[in-house]
Amino acid sequence: MGFAPEVAFVAPRLLSIDLYSRSRGYNLEVKSPKKRATEVRSRLLETYGQPVWRDPLPPLDELVSTILSQNTTDTNRDRAFNALRERFPTWEEVRDAEPSDVIAAIRSAGLANQKGPRIQLALQQITEERGDLSLDFLEDLPLEEAREWLLRFKGVGPKTAAIVLLFSLGKPAFPVDTHIYRLTGRLGLRPDKITADQAHSHLEALFDPAMYYDVHLNLIRHGREICHARSPQCERCSLSDLCPFYQAQSRESTNE
Ligand code: SF4
Repeated sequence: MGFAPEVAFVAPRLLSIDLYSRSRGYNLEVKSPKKRATEVRSRLLETYGQPVWRDPLPPLDELVSTILSQNTTDTNRDRAFNALRERFPTWEEVRDAEPSDVIAAIRSAGLANQKGPRIQLALQQITEERGDLSLDFLEDLPLEEAREWLLRFKGVGPKTAAIVLLFSLGKPAFPVDTHIYRLTGRLGLRPDKITADQAHSHLEALFDPAMYYDVHLNLIRHGREICHARSPQCERCSLSDLCPFYQAQSRESTNE
């Protein structure tokens, strides 16, 4: 899907980026985190090409799908989403269904006892506030207003909101999942101590909005295929010369 950053987008401030980089021993005169971020992005594009998100869903469908995706695989998320749509062809029917029937339909996503009520509650809240079940109106809101709107729902955090904003609404938000949090930490693109929620605004400031779409998808792919949580395959990695984690590991093994 094409991604057109909003003209009015103003990048948030980077979090003490000079300080955290200096503390880790990088030469900022030669390579600032912003420059390194841009190089990481180019390298990932060379390695994986321009990624394509699955068929974009309408924003309400994406919201439900992303709630279902929490702590499970894409396959289980899709299985649960399809089962829910098969059992209840409209969102009104999901909203008004017996909670136990919704929970049964989404069982394959795991945590169904949490996710089912959260989905139904979000559908009820949207109906109460908007009079109908659609989030298409968010497209006309400025980025931060649309983000605030999504964050009001129980179970919707910065990552879920950013996924809906970026992939359904074409707005410049940068979703940070577990892979992106791990990789940006290893690559020195964020301070070590910030949380995944805080990393959203930091990475939005670090990357150009036009990069969010491909950087998000290619970093996830790199995390799944190469930079695994337990045993990253640094010797196969196209980013190793840009990676402070790898350089530190290499120094340690040389000194042993
Ligand atoms: S060099 Fe290793 S730690 Fe660094 S990004 Fe690549 S796989 Fe991950």
